[in-house]
Amino acid sequence: MTVKTRFAPSPTGMLHIGGARTALFSWLYARHFGGEFVLRIEDTDKERSTDEATQVILDGMKWLGLDWDGEPIFQGARQDKHIAAVNQLLDEGKAYKCYCSKDKLDAMREKQRIEGKKAMYDGTCRNLTDAPDTPFVIRFKSPENGETWVKDLVLGDVCFPNEEIDDLIIMRTDGTPTYNLAVVVDDADMGITHVVRGSDHLNNTPRQIQMYEALDLDVPQFAHIPLIHGADGAKMSKRHGSIAITEYREKGYLPHAVNNYLARLGWSHGDDEVFSQEQLIEYFDLAHVGASPSRFDQDKLDWLNAHWIKASNPADLVDEVNYFLKLDTANGADLVDVIPALQERSKNLIELADGARMFYVAPTEYQEKAVKKNFKEGTWDLLDKFITKAESEAWSGEAAHQWIADICGAEGVNMGKLAQPIRILIAGMPVSPPIDITLGLLGKDETLTRIKTGITTLKS
Ligand code: GLU
Repeated sequence: MTVKTRFAPSPTGMLHIGGARTALFSWLYARHFGGEFVLRIEDTDKERSTDEATQVILDGMKWLGLDWDGEPIFQGARQDKHIAAVNQLLDEGKAYKCYCSKDKLDAMREKQRIEGKKAMYDGTCRNLTDAPDTPFVIRFKSPENGETWVKDLVLGDVCFPNEEIDDLIIMRTDGTPTYNLAVVVDDADMGITHVVRGSDHLNNTPRQIQMYEALDLDVPQFAHIPLIHGADGAKMSKRHGSIAITEYREKGYLPHAVNNYLARLGWSHGDDEVFSQEQLIEYFDLAHVGASPSRFDQDKLDWLNAHWIKASNPADLVDEVNYFLKLDTANGADLVDVIPALQERSKNLIELADGARMFYVAPTEYQEKAVKKNFKEGTWDLLDKFITKAESEAWSGEAAHQWIADICGAEGVNMGKLAQPIRILIAGMPVSPPIDITLGLLGKDETLTRIKTGITTLKS
């Protein structure tokens, strides 16, 4: 059997961290088995679905590298199949038309509330023989006795007494099929073998299993992933970092750091914390997904981000750094050579891009405080000596570093007396990677032009 999983988000809200983790687990499970992973956008709720939310799903998944097989499937386009299934159930007597008005249903609920009973449809129209000429919904005839078991790969076996499951509406008055019916038809039609989704759907699952059986379809395996809570144990909200997944990009996170973090949020592999994408695919299983909610830990995400920024191949960071740099790097050093100078010192990609900017853009101003601190009477002479040396000898970062050491040594001052003013003139501030690396990357012409321009500006 080839494993086939899916991610089936409703584009009614932004794809956030919880949804992204569901997508990741579903994707990892398929990739682990060399199976297929499909993306199905459940856009049947036309009023609440937005193009913006769909775009965040597509962009977020692409950014995280969760590639899907084939084209994304839009559930709204498959309505004919859902309607056909409803009609089949009606024809076979496994569903019925319900004419109960809203008032009648409200009264039913109120009576149940007063009697201390669970609010559920009481089956009034189940055995109706006449067909009044009023609007109707179609309800699924749920078995009245017995039990429905969900054999969940994460939560274990969960039993639902059928008497607690009422007859669900599978088609609304306007003729549109509802979620539980559509999801069964689509998962069966697409040959989904494993439904991996959030545990907020667990209560829908016995209803869906009953429909698979009524439609004579193979029931897939289910894996319900416990929810993510905030660090304080409360339900995850914006305050806890539950922002649209694309916002994590804006905040300077590396997609793999997010994947690594999300994988560990609920799944474990011994005590390991750091996994490459290949390792995640190799090790991932549902048996090691925990059955209780996990807590979101911002510090751990930040730590993994800094870790992966350091540990990544520079070439793999180029696109993400360019996303923040937003400038033409053709006239300066190759970005792939600049990145290693900054990987160790950057906590996130925004910091890395900020550090890289000086290699492509000359400063237009110089930090006043730094100038005051580092420019003294003797500074101009040290700078002159450096310029003379650089103009007469072969240039390299190491050579420039040596000249600074030699000039300062001869004057009996420490290297910072010349290195810091040079930094300020080339970067506008007294921070940059080590001076040999910085000057090597910037090159002779650009270094000397910036130093000379800076001297003129500061002297005037
Ligand atoms: N469309 C549903 C949602 O976004 C998920 C359906 C499912 O995974 O079965 O909550």
